[in-house]
Amino acid sequence: MSQGFRHLLVTVSLIGVFTAGCAQQTPNGVVEDIPKNAISTSSNPDIQKLANLALNNSYGYDITRSLTTEIGPRLAGSEGEARARDWAMAKFKELGFANIKNEAFPVAGWVRGVETAEIVAPYPQSLVITALGGSVATPKDGIQAPVAYFATYDDLVNAPLGSLDGKIAYISGRMEKHIDGAGYGPANQKRQTGATEAAKRGALAVLIRSVGTDSHRFPHTGQMRYDEAIKKIPIAAMSAPDADQMDRIFEMGKDVEINLHLLTRDIGVLQSGNVMAEIIGSEKPEEIILIGAHLDSWDMSTGAVDDGAGVGIVMGAAKVLMDSGLKPKRTIRVVLFGAEEVGLIGAFAYAKAHEAELGQHVLATESDFGAGKIYGLQAGKYAATQAVVASWVPEFAYLGIKAKDGVTNGGPDIIPLNIAGVPTVRLNQDGTDYFDLHHTPDDTFDKIDPKAIQQNVAAYATLIWLASEADTNFRDE
Ligand SMILES: [Zn+2]
Repeated sequence: MSQGFRHLLVTVSLIGVFTAGCAQQTPNGVVEDIPKNAISTSSNPDIQKLANLALNNSYGYDITRSLTTEIGPRLAGSEGEARARDWAMAKFKELGFANIKNEAFPVAGWVRGVETAEIVAPYPQSLVITALGGSVATPKDGIQAPVAYFATYDDLVNAPLGSLDGKIAYISGRMEKHIDGAGYGPANQKRQTGATEAAKRGALAVLIRSVGTDSHRFPHTGQMRYDEAIKKIPIAAMSAPDADQMDRIFEMGKDVEINLHLLTRDIGVLQSGNVMAEIIGSEKPEEIILIGAHLDSWDMSTGAVDDGAGVGIVMGAAKVLMDSGLKPKRTIRVVLFGAEEVGLIGAFAYAKAHEAELGQHVLATESDFGAGKIYGLQAGKYAATQAVVASWVPEFAYLGIKAKDGVTNGGPDIIPLNIAGVPTVRLNQDGTDYFDLHHTPDDTFDKIDPKAIQQNVAAYATLIWLASEADTNFRDE
């Protein structure tokens, strides 16, 4: 059985669980009957109630559709991101949330501008590229130079100082596909520090194979970082097929010359913000369960899987809890972070602005890994959190979710809270295909599966209810 086919079967059997009472077509044409009570396996009547509400409405999908359609791209600090904050304030109000707030913070403004690359020799042709976020510009007339090829980031790091004088460095290296995105960290090194390492060796500019797992002709952007002590040189990513083309030419032993134009601009300090709202706790309102997602996206798409889906999922889950009539003992705070993509700027601003009440943050998590179904439940670093979360696992069985080993930081925007000692938890989504779309122009609403979003909403509704009612503070004493 191929990996793909096995994946399809698992997916179809999970979908079956969510469409209780429906006949389901399987890939080999056999129609299976799905038990009518398939979603009622939880022994907890409150969770049954939440599950039935979540799996019989489309809040998450509708919210994601509204954000991506009515706002579109939402680059940190941009007019689009500002409109997204207005949208979020209005949406929270419409859905009936309390304590709706926009907490502003500054962010460095950056725009992409013209970006082109051509192979000048030996086989003239244009390449599909995009600047990495934060990249400095080339001179207006571009950079034309011979290319030094590196099969991997490590090969670049092992190259002698001065060996790239007058050259453009090209770093290939493929990212591996994994359900939990384990290939991202290793592949991302060239994006994060490729410019610095190449500049140390004398390079004029850097091109990388996109950090992604697709074979489509879309380049993947993403934030890069400069070392302030090292000369800043421009850096861009090319699509996978363009990188393949480069690799083939180098395999032929040919010398390659490239002309690169990246007319990026720094545009000064702009405003971003975190938008948040609450369901106020009925017994312990000062104790906060935080569920987050990020409101900003990259500029080249409408950011549907990154992170429009997360916004829909967490807002939708809280709305389901409100609709259920259940009254959470603790406060449920939904935080839509700004400026995540450009370096967790909103996350650090939140941690700073709420420093005084971080001790009352009982548990925190974020949905920011696409729009795939959730398969795992993973706890943060405290033994107390691990024990309580382990006791919850049976309550998630109706969604096909199992315990996941390892320790979570709660998600990207939760990192500063995790560092500050706030307990964390994570619902792990299937991210096998996430990096096909991640940070490309192809991250659009048509990629969202409404059934997968319903499952996510049900899982988050279950999670916030259990966290609200749990008789513990999740921290080790
Ligand atoms: Zn994201």
